[in-house]
Amino acid sequence: MRHPFHRRTGIHLLASASLFCLTACADTPAIAEAEPAKPTTLQTAAQVMVDPVVMVRSFDDWRADFRAEALAQGIDPQLFDRAFAGVTPDPDVIKADRSQPEFSRPVWTYLEGALSNQRVSSGQRKLDEQRTQLDRIEQRYGVDKHILAAIWGLESNFGQNMGNRQVIRSLATLAHEGRRPTFAHDQLLGAMDILQHRDIEPERMLGSWAGAMGQTQFIPTTYNQYAVDFDQDGRRDIWYSAPDALASAAHYLQQSGWQTGQPWGQEVKLPKDFDYALADSSIRKPMQQWAELGITDAKGSSLPASLSEQSAALLLPAGHRGPAFLVLNNFRSIMRYNNSTSYALAIGLLSERFQRGGQVLGSWPTEDRPLSRSERTELQTLLSEQGFEPGGIDGIIGANTRSAIRRIQQQLNWPADGYPTPELLEQLRRL
Ligand code: CA
Repeated sequence: MRHPFHRRTGIHLLASASLFCLTACADTPAIAEAEPAKPTTLQTAAQVMVDPVVMVRSFDDWRADFRAEALAQGIDPQLFDRAFAGVTPDPDVIKADRSQPEFSRPVWTYLEGALSNQRVSSGQRKLDEQRTQLDRIEQRYGVDKHILAAIWGLESNFGQNMGNRQVIRSLATLAHEGRRPTFAHDQLLGAMDILQHRDIEPERMLGSWAGAMGQTQFIPTTYNQYAVDFDQDGRRDIWYSAPDALASAAHYLQQSGWQTGQPWGQEVKLPKDFDYALADSSIRKPMQQWAELGITDAKGSSLPASLSEQSAALLLPAGHRGPAFLVLNNFRSIMRYNNSTSYALAIGLLSERFQRGGQVLGSWPTEDRPLSRSERTELQTLLSEQGFEPGGIDGIIGANTRSAIRRIQQQLNWPADGYPTPELLEQLRRL
């Protein structure tokens, strides 16, 4: 019985169809998201609908239970009381937790923000400022310092924007009445462990509304597993020590299978009449085999022979009309940090922009309008009605939905890229 306080006594959770998703569910994540997403005026009534979580138990009762549990796990009572002094539920956190934006940015718009000139020049300056430490970190963990700087830049704008909310208050709010109370409860216990370890004082433990902390935006359990004290002052300080933050990110990537000296991937060019159904993250082939299928680098030259044995997947972030990329194992390590292909692509390209590369040669299909959340839900409903089994009806285009889209595209004799478009939705409405 790990969580005795999660008995349903006195708590009525009304079921809801929407997905419980704290971070990194969208294809295009927010950049250095520190503040709750503001609802757009274009939201439809369906989207404003929130999970009707009715809490009978008061925050004070919840805190008393949580205190007993934390103390039973060895948390010092004085520390607990200091960390919770004056803590009340944060209404902004609840609002952010329940907001589900109707419209998402297309990948090219996301990349434009992620790879802005300002971010590139700040990154180059930071790489210069932290050169000695970054070289040492690269040597110790075997992770490319440009990748580390790119993560630093996207997670917290190089430490400028780590979120200004008290982590304990945010997580307590979410553990009490968030959409994923068990997850938040575990993170809150993890945060108490960090305080007990004296890595940071409660007042200086800042993060995003979702409890992502410091310059690396680690959640507490990730911190407890991977954070390191690189500057050796006795504290693992991902908030106010850039070397600690960067080394912690390097340690996390190393433990996520980072392969030293390998690229994340590269842009490629596909031959005419290519079978787009091969662009699926579950289909991995040695680069040599992709070359045999006629794939070249973005300029039309042969793929690098040095990588011919390396396993790669073909990524079409905007469908067959947009640029194509072959992504290697390190791309998957970046996705362990943030489970979004757009994010991993942004990190790879940003790391190259710091070195005056990273330009995408293919053109983005900017005339394509991305589907809204309600359209994506409708698409899934129609796919399901037609027997194409898209997985859940949740408005999120995951692997099952992509493969359902491919199957109907194949049946229609369309390019089977698994990419949802308004044309496909129109077609399905007519079936
Ligand atoms: Ca330190």
